Amino acid sequence: MKKVNLKTFIINKKTILIAFFVTLSVLFISFVPTIIKATSPKSKYTVVIDAGHGGIDGGSVGKTTKISESSLNLEYARCLKTMLSDFGFNVVMTRENENGLYSPLAQNKKKDDMKKRKEIIEKSNADFVISIHMNSYTSSSVGAQVFYGEEDEPSKMLAKCIQNKFINNLQNARKEIKVGDYYILNAIKAPSVLVECGYLSNPKEEKLLISDEYKKEVCYSILLGVLNYLE
Ligand SMILES: [Zn+2]
Repeated sequence: MKKVNLKTFIINKKTILIAFFVTLSVLFISFVPTIIKATSPKSKYTVVIDAGHGGIDGGSVGKTTKISESSLNLEYARCLKTMLSDFGFNVVMTRENENGLYSPLAQNKKKDDMKKRKEIIEKSNADFVISIHMNSYTSSSVGAQVFYGEEDEPSKMLAKCIQNKFINNLQNARKEIKVGDYYILNAIKAPSVLVECGYLSNPKEEKLLISDEYKKEVCYSILLGVLNYLE
């Protein structure tokens, strides 16, 4: 029978222990930046939610209820803000109430309003922007659709991710994203999309759009799309 060398046994045990603690230290050091990143507020994404219209500019009008687009946009923006904040996003809203952002003295209130929105977005250092709107066309038009600026690949990608979730979760979603020539898409450097949540000109869709349940489905789909975009 082979005799176990006690000295070798002790050295081996010591080597294993040293190796164990070295591995532990390496693991700890490599995880520290991740821990700091996860807890530092700087690592949070900042998203600007822009509730379209407001004040004298009510936007579209509900076919049956005559609800103004600007009020509904604000409700959706607030719902989306709650969902994104709960998920750890730093959320900035361009408007928090029914008022427009223009100065009462401004000659061109629409222009002044859009300029203020741009200023808020730039000041916030936004990672991306989501502008909320409701569409209006003929009474047969239906479907949520996401718009992005021309030749803007990051925005197109964000639009695609959100549209895919609409297609999965909503009954009337459009099948395609679309290029939109809107100030909020053209004037902003950060990836930005304009979400038309549905058609207020269609009585059936209007009924859906004003329901709490549908609002949550739309906002949840946007949240899922955002998460998918950031993956
Ligand atoms: Zn609008």
